[in-house]
Amino acid sequence: MSTMDARRFKLVDMHCHLDRMCNAADVAREAAARGIGIFCATVTPQDAILAQKTFANCENVRVGVGLHPWWVANDRVLARAGTRGEASADNRISTGVDSDGALIAHGQTPARPNACGPADAPAHSVDAGTRIFTGTEGERPTNIASQSSTAGNLCSCTECTLDSVDAICRVANLAAASPYIGEVGLDFSPAHVQTRSMQLEAFERIVRTCAENPCGARVVSIHAVRAAREALDILERHALTRSATCVFHWFSGTSDDFLRLRRLGCCVSVNNRMLATRRGREYARQMPADRLLLETDAPGQFDAPYSASELEASLMRTLCALARLRGADEHELASRIAQASAGLLRL
Ligand SMILES: [Zn+2]
Repeated sequence: MSTMDARRFKLVDMHCHLDRMCNAADVAREAAARGIGIFCATVTPQDAILAQKTFANCENVRVGVGLHPWWVANDRVLARAGTRGEASADNRISTGVDSDGALIAHGQTPARPNACGPADAPAHSVDAGTRIFTGTEGERPTNIASQSSTAGNLCSCTECTLDSVDAICRVANLAAASPYIGEVGLDFSPAHVQTRSMQLEAFERIVRTCAENPCGARVVSIHAVRAAREALDILERHALTRSATCVFHWFSGTSDDFLRLRRLGCCVSVNNRMLATRRGREYARQMPADRLLLETDAPGQFDAPYSASELEASLMRTLCALARLRGADEHELASRIAQASAGLLRL
C-alpha cells in the first residue's frame, strides 16, 4: 500500500456489520464514493461466504471470517435436533441459545441489543427474518469461495448447515486461509454465559488455526465482554499477537486487561458507545496513537436499511470526541487513523 492509496480513504470503519444491512451493496458503493473503507465483521461462517461474494467487487470493503460468540451454539443445537429449525424442547432448554431461551434456526438472529459490543444493556428482540442477498451475482472466486469446494463440507447457500460439520469447524477452515477474521471472541455477560464452554472452544480453535496458518498481515476483530482476561489468555497461549494485528472492538475490560492488551501490542477500535462510559473514554485517551482505530459496529438493528452517511456521521462523531479527549488535532488524528487502518486492510 502506498501512502497515496491510503489517502483515498479519509475514514475507515474497522468493525461494521455491513452484510447485515438489507441494502448492503448500496451502502458499500455509497461509502466508496465518500472515501470510507469498511471492515465487514460477520457473525457466522455462512455469512462470511455470502459477504465475500456480495462485496467481491467493492474495493473499499474487506470481509472478516467470523463466528460471533452469540451465534456460536446455533448450529450445534440444530445438528443435535436433527432437523432444520425443529429442535426439541429439551434441546432448547439445555442449550439456551439466545437470551430469551428460544431456539434460533440458522438464518435467524439471536436477540441483539443495539450492537454487539458490551452486552450489559438490556437486549431487545430483533426480528431477523430471512436474510436478503443483495450482492451481485458474478463468478468471483475468492479465498473463501474457492476453499468452499476444497473443504467439501462448505456451502455458500443461505440455508445449508445440517449437512455440514458444525460452525466451529467451518469457521476454522475458512479462517486458515483468510487475512481478515471477525467477529470472533467471548461474551460471558449473563445473557450469554451459558454457552461459555462452547465459546471458549470456538475462540481457541480459531486463534490456534490462525497461529498455525500465518498469512501475511492478518487482522482479527475481537469481541470480549466480561471475558477480556480469557480472550487475552488464548491470544497469548497461541502467540497470535506476534503474527496478527489483534483488534479489541469496543474494549470494556478491566484496567489490568487494558495494560495487558497494550503490552501484547493489540489495537482497540473505538465507537460512540464506548465513549459513553468514563472507563471507555479513559481507555480511548490512554491508547497509544498508533493502535487506536475507529468503528461503528453498525447497524443497530440487523437486516434493516442503513446508509453510508450514517456511517460517516458516526465515525466523525467518534473522531471529534477522540480528538477532544486526547487534546489532538482532529485532522491530524483523522489522517493518521485512516492511514493506519488502510494499511491494516490493504486498502
Ligand atoms: Zn460487532
